[in-house]
Amino acid sequence: MENRLVDSFKRIGFRKWYERQLLSSHAHMVLAFLSVIALVASMEAFRTAQGDAQLVDVMFVVVCAAIGGWAMRRYVFLLMRAEQAANQASCPDCGDYGRFQVVGHRPRLQEIDLRCRKCSRDWIFSSLQ
Ligand SMILES: [Zn+2]
Repeated sequence: MENRLVDSFKRIGFRKWYERQLLSSHAHMVLAFLSVIALVASMEAFRTAQGDAQLVDVMFVVVCAAIGGWAMRRYVFLLMRAEQAANQASCPDCGDYGRFQVVGHRPRLQEIDLRCRKCSRDWIFSSLQ
């Protein structure tokens, strides 16, 4: 996970990474919302269905709940991680936001060493797992 973070910071830069995280997290929120709609529709269909159709509706409810739960968890995780990263993206000295280079990382400690592109100040970024 952290190596992917390091790779992303190096490849596309923090600002683009952050933007993509927000887009991805909100896409998951939309998926969770659609799952709730599908779940309610399945419950409604269950009331009027009979026999095997009822069983299929129960299956739909379970599948919609599972997808919705997963999407909601993913939404919260991506959003929290993006915010946690954003809080550490400003240079402690000059305050320049999101303009740093990765100069090293310690996967075991989940830490990434950053250097400000403006004033060359180094600081440590702790990543959320
Ligand atoms: Zn700086």
